Amino acid sequence: MTHAYIGLGSNLDNPGAHITRALDELAKLPLSQLIACSARYSSRAVGPGDQPDYINAVTLINTELTPLQLLDELQAIEQMHQRVRIEHWGPRTLDLDILLLDNQIITNKRLQVPHPFMAQRNFVLYPLADITPNLILPCGTPLSELLANSSHDGLERLKNEGASCERNV
Ligand code: AMP
Repeated sequence: MTHAYIGLGSNLDNPGAHITRALDELAKLPLSQLIACSARYSSRAVGPGDQPDYINAVTLINTELTPLQLLDELQAIEQMHQRVRIEHWGPRTLDLDILLLDNQIITNKRLQVPHPFMAQRNFVLYPLADITPNLILPCGTPLSELLANSSHDGLERLKNEGASCERNV
């Protein structure tokens, strides 16, 4: 059984509804259990043009899926949400990232874990801390240290609505 932290993001086509639906879909993943959800955050978009703000959240699941099986499942969920054609780095209806898989370090051509940009993204670090404030990354760095060096810029904590977790934060 692996503890998997999954990052969710959406900035198109009613983002809050995409996040709610994605949480329900994550709760139904095979060989897996949804354990906890962070609060939702709104974050300023990084990328081309004048994009709408994102809604972000992080969830913790326990899973017996292999890392690549989990990636396949997450990409299948993303596909079900891609009703709007997307441009690279452009707005998206749903983005699901595998942030951490216990202390595993994976450098596969389809999958890098820990997620390569997670340490620089406040919209990942703050929700992660909602779930596990004393988390230590596989490299030995405490999450609290990354947070101490991370700004709140563009990030706003929202009220939690309708998430289907046993433990909402
Ligand atoms: P993006 O939609 O921009 O997040 O990028 C998706 C691509 O990143 C896919 O082709 C994945 O195979 C790849 N990828 C590499 N590492 C990860 C990860 N930890 N979580 C999700 N996708 C990943």
